Amino acid sequence: MSQSIEALARANVRALTPYQSARRLGGKGDVWLNANEYPVAVPFELSQQTLNRYPECQPTQVIERYAAYAGLLAEQVLVSRGADEGIELLMRAFCEPGKDAVLFCPPTYGMYSVSAETIGIEYRTVPTREGWQLDLSAIAAQLNGVKLVYLCSPNNPTGNLVNPDEIRQLLEMTRGNALVVADEAYIEFCPQASLTTWLKDYPHLVILRTLSKAFALAGLRCGFTLANKPVIDLLMKVIAPYPLSTPVADIAAQALSDHGIALMREHVAEILATRRLLIDALKTCDCVEQVFDSETNYVLARFTASSQVFKTLWDEGIILRDQNKQPGLAGCLRISIGTREECQRTIAALKTLPGTAAVSME
Ligand SMILES: *Cc1c(COP(=O)(O)O)cnc(C)c1O
Repeated sequence: MSQSIEALARANVRALTPYQSARRLGGKGDVWLNANEYPVAVPFELSQQTLNRYPECQPTQVIERYAAYAGLLAEQVLVSRGADEGIELLMRAFCEPGKDAVLFCPPTYGMYSVSAETIGIEYRTVPTREGWQLDLSAIAAQLNGVKLVYLCSPNNPTGNLVNPDEIRQLLEMTRGNALVVADEAYIEFCPQASLTTWLKDYPHLVILRTLSKAFALAGLRCGFTLANKPVIDLLMKVIAPYPLSTPVADIAAQALSDHGIALMREHVAEILATRRLLIDALKTCDCVEQVFDSETNYVLARFTASSQVFKTLWDEGIILRDQNKQPGLAGCLRISIGTREECQRTIAALKTLPGTAAVSME
């Protein structure tokens, strides 16, 4: 019975490995440093009592406040159920399954491939070169039939920015043929690097944003797509009629008030200070081989015996994210910046672990 149901499913869905979200991976930790969340809940209260009514498709106050925050026009902003929905709406609006392709540059965020596989769109990968920068000539050789190029800057899980001169070259190379989608999920941690001011020069530039990271609202599921009006108009054709519930729009508007934005900036300053402490401390641990610079609220590090480190901390209730399987990231774990106490507990646990020489691998 269940087998025949399986046979009814689309072939690409049968073959699909779903996104291994931090929540799906589980664990019984009390120090959650695996999903790049803000470590403390920000209190909000619902102000709308109109749940008998359908919500606005694009709640005006949320759109206007985000536009003001981003320095753009309201017509350049689309709000959706997280940036993840934005990733998928772009594919649904621009890619013909079985004909068009998307391209991205690993190691990077996992949802670009998962969304492409779910919808049944070919994806091409062009690995990054040193410093996780774009391999422009390899990209140029792969662009035939590509409609969307996803690039994540700062990049998850490596934490680096993509060189803006090379993004410009990519935009020139794709003009008229493909959209370039810059995923700025972590841009609040390095706001000077945003590409929003480039929208006036590039009709094919799209920027993804979220309230899940610096705004401390991962549980809200609210993200934004920024682009010129012709792109937004096409996405509006494929988005669900009511993508955001009334409580989500209510809280998003509060998070984007002057007070909400000021609070977010305080949180960012505190995360950046804690990141400094964590990076310095990691460099003094025997089991740490290399710590990579970060422009974000997480740090990637290479360990002498990463699976043992991961397991030891897991057993102590400290949950990190294993990046070992990503191309070029053998031995790497990603650590979200938690509270100062959480980072201290992590360092204390790492300090008990030996370097290579003393480790017996199973
Ligand atoms: C977290 C994350 C997202 C998803 O954001 P949501 O708004 O929570 O869907 C998108 N891109 C990157 C690179 C992320 O790390």
